[in-house]
Amino acid sequence: MVKGHLDRIAIKGKEKERSEKLGITIKKEEDSAEWYAQVCEKGDLAEYAPVKGCYIIKPYGYKIWENIQTYFNKELKRMGISNAYFPLFIPESFFKREAQHARGFSPEVAWIANREEESERIAVRPTSETIMCDSFARWVRSWRDLPLRINQWCNVVRWETKATKLFLRSREFLWQEGHCVYETESDCDRETLVMLEKYKKLAEELLAIPVIYGKKTDREKFAGANYTMTIEAFMPDGKALQLGTSHNLGQGFMKAFNVSFLGKDGEAHVPWHSSWGFSTRLIGAAVLMHSDNKGLVLPPRIAPNKVVIVPIIFDETRSKVLAACDEVRQMLAELDPILDEREEYTPGWKFNNWELRGIPLRVEIGPKDLETHECVLVRRDGGKKQYIKIADIKEAVLVELEEIQHDLFAKAKKVLDGSITPVQNWAQFVDVAKERRLILAAHCGDMACEETIQEQTGGVTTRCVPFGDEKIKRAQACVHCGKPSKYCVYFSKSY
Ligand SMILES: [Zn+2]
Repeated sequence: MVKGHLDRIAIKGKEKERSEKLGITIKKEEDSAEWYAQVCEKGDLAEYAPVKGCYIIKPYGYKIWENIQTYFNKELKRMGISNAYFPLFIPESFFKREAQHARGFSPEVAWIANREEESERIAVRPTSETIMCDSFARWVRSWRDLPLRINQWCNVVRWETKATKLFLRSREFLWQEGHCVYETESDCDRETLVMLEKYKKLAEELLAIPVIYGKKTDREKFAGANYTMTIEAFMPDGKALQLGTSHNLGQGFMKAFNVSFLGKDGEAHVPWHSSWGFSTRLIGAAVLMHSDNKGLVLPPRIAPNKVVIVPIIFDETRSKVLAACDEVRQMLAELDPILDEREEYTPGWKFNNWELRGIPLRVEIGPKDLETHECVLVRRDGGKKQYIKIADIKEAVLVELEEIQHDLFAKAKKVLDGSITPVQNWAQFVDVAKERRLILAAHCGDMACEETIQEQTGGVTTRCVPFGDEKIKRAQACVHCGKPSKYCVYFSKSY
């Protein structure tokens, strides 16, 4: 007989009905959007706000954001990038100075009438290139001031008309935006790529999300950029999700805001400019990628709590079991474990509740386990269960946390690799698009051709031109129009 097992089965039976009501009521495969909303809400990450297009990040969800911030702030420090803060409000005239930028953002800028001055309106920032460059014109004087590297953590507002999805699409969201100014184009090129690589590392190492990465086509690049680089994840429901972008903004904003520096040659020069950003969308990406029909599954490195300890309490053994749980809690102190001693809930209810919240590991301790000085260690992903000597629990937990992190990435990588489908002609393209796979095809690079593809496929767009493939595919014909191809590019629907 498996030790401690009977206790648990009895308790599980009693609480089964209550637990089911608490859980996710729809399967991921049946209705991905509804499943996702339930996982976020029942997992206690976020909820919809009274104002249309907005949502509330609850404390448990915000801790994930803080874990991402802590990781990235360390990376920024290492690179000598400082955090600063610029105003939420931007004068309308700033937007008019860089024409492409103004055109690109105008449909989604929220405006405030400026009653005091009765002159120009004020924009609620959709991004901060303009207001930062206005300051950079004062901050940058000579080559000694360069490179200038600034990051800010803030909220931005983009007046979306599409339906809100928690973390994935909303009118207001949190993000980081980095803005750097360089002496030369090559410095700017180099660091635009360095930041993209930092994002790739963050997605893969912290969030356990494998990405495709490369350059955006001209049609999809940031408004006002020379070029945009992106990292994109491919979700299990067959849609890509842009996770972070890094832009070489050239000299457009620098000229528009009169930023110049005195070079080593004693002459005035126009510097080069980059910006890069990721948002709270990363949280949504991790939820979509890893969670299952029982609720949240969180990679240990972003999980607010790594371990929960659940005592199996009976009157006659209560004190012994609780003492053992407390001993385990102290052994795991550095992981900040939760000890769920609540008497008003049964262990079965607690198991379901912590599974909904995606705690990576659960330790169960009951009276039978104590006879052999053991406890039960259960993984949230996949449910693997092991009996571990209490004396060895810390080591076992550390090993399992690393394995969960690794396994979640490996599983997601398999999905991504299995989804990539090279396509040779248009008929094949249409079929593969219907199967919601990630298409890799040669393209002419023409914006009108890209637009036609989107129209004819109900929303398939280019995701990115992978590095290294640009020249290789030049000899092939465009998958849609047959003209000579410019590069090979990923296509899919997207969030
Ligand atoms: Zn074409």
